[in-house]
Amino acid sequence: MYKLFIDGENVDSSSGASSQIRNPATSELVDGVSKGDADDAKKAIDAAEDALEKWSEVASIQSSTILSRAAQLIRSNEQELATLLTKEQGKTLPESLGEIRFFAKTLEYYSGAKITGSFIALTDKVSAEVRKEPVGVVGGIVPWNNPVMLMGAKVVSSIRSGDAIVIKPASSTPLTTIRCAQILSQAGLPRGVFNVVPGPGGVVGEELLKNPKVRKVSFTGESETGKHIMEVAARDLKRVTLELGGSNPVIVADDADLEAAVDNTLFGRFRNCGQGCMCIKRAYVFEKVADQYLKRLIEKVKSIKVGNGLAQGVTMGPIHSSSQREGFEEQVKDGISKGAEVLTGGKRPSGTEYDKGFFYEPTLLVNADPSSKVVREEVFGPALPIFRVKDMDEAIIKGNDSIYGLGAHLWTRNIQTAMKAARKLKAGTILVNTPYGAGGWEIEVPMGGFKQSGLGREYGIEGMGQYQETKTIVYGT
Ligand code: NDP
Repeated sequence: MYKLFIDGENVDSSSGASSQIRNPATSELVDGVSKGDADDAKKAIDAAEDALEKWSEVASIQSSTILSRAAQLIRSNEQELATLLTKEQGKTLPESLGEIRFFAKTLEYYSGAKITGSFIALTDKVSAEVRKEPVGVVGGIVPWNNPVMLMGAKVVSSIRSGDAIVIKPASSTPLTTIRCAQILSQAGLPRGVFNVVPGPGGVVGEELLKNPKVRKVSFTGESETGKHIMEVAARDLKRVTLELGGSNPVIVADDADLEAAVDNTLFGRFRNCGQGCMCIKRAYVFEKVADQYLKRLIEKVKSIKVGNGLAQGVTMGPIHSSSQREGFEEQVKDGISKGAEVLTGGKRPSGTEYDKGFFYEPTLLVNADPSSKVVREEVFGPALPIFRVKDMDEAIIKGNDSIYGLGAHLWTRNIQTAMKAARKLKAGTILVNTPYGAGGWEIEVPMGGFKQSGLGREYGIEGMGQYQETKTIVYGT
């Protein structure tokens, strides 16, 4: 049984309530977890505030060593952590290992990051110091799709900046996060600096939004929830970072390295069973190469092995929950009812090994109506609508035709075309001739959304800066 992690201790919830975490591939019980409420969230916030004064004074010296030590511990426990993550989230074991290693890399990267300020001479006798100071107590609210990676950016940026944080993990994926908090404590992080309170978003999350001791909320999740977070946080002007949904296009030009573009589409759409904010959600392929692209993509999609993420050889796990699968199926059904043609997939797989999990076949669609849900909405599941376009202008207009603006992928060998197109695409991250997550996008660079994909940035030095306040001190002599 996992417990809340408050003030450096594993503690029961005040109400004594608990919930069960089940494996999305088998519906088997993974473990129980104490279910926090508003009182527990208050206790964690108080612990964070108590820790803050001392921590903010020593963090710049101590946090680097603690983060490095924590990275080593995370790496030496990576098999245990990855197995737990696969059991609670559903992704394949190699995907979980990648996520745990990304967390270790986050710890390593920020352990070396410097908090910088500056001095500015105003006149001969007056100079100004521009200082970075901790923002204070941070509330971090995390979704279930990449629970460790997304928690990592919030927690590590906070720790390095001298803040103290309370994480509310998604109700269905709290376990690996609690283990990570225990490991950071073992690495020497003072009590109260990193607390974890699992519990319902509407209860524990709301307390983080409303409690005046919390000075910043960093939220990753759905855009509609994000709007609510911003509204409530605005009541006492908390700082907010919002990392929200995406409907990222991939554009494949007729001079692209087609093999690489196909592989990127495959990985970009179907990793984590399509449940990623940065996943490719729509494809726009130049007419001239569309048949060739489709032929190769269909072959590769058919070779995806769906199954329990812990099993050898499985390359795509289940959708995370029954309700997620239903919502996804509704989007695909809407597309088909409006004329989309299924090239492969389009249904749940059959066989007893799939009976108890929330599996769905990887799906390719053509001729989808641009107004259908599978094109307009964020699709958090394994389906890709593919469109033929005549040229880059058409691809950009269609690629930008979304309320979201998180990412875009571009494949062309012409550097001028690439530079022009990348500037016209309205998204926070543009990946040109490079896959996401395999050297193409990394911790060093800021990430976040245009339009309804969010506010502010996480990762990189810019991301860490959002966990700090700027103070200007003017000195006269
Ligand atoms: P939700 O917005 O439903 O939930 C995210 C988190 O918010 C959960 O911890 C949830 O708690 C909590 N929450 C829900 N309601 C409230 C509330 N009223 N007050 C405070 N907290 C609340 O998103 P999903 O879990 O469905 O996550 C998937 C979404 O996340 C997708 O849209 C995806 O694109 C987006 N995402 C964005 C990323 C980015 O960087 N831009 C990265 C990854 C995902 P509980 O679990 O208890 O409901």
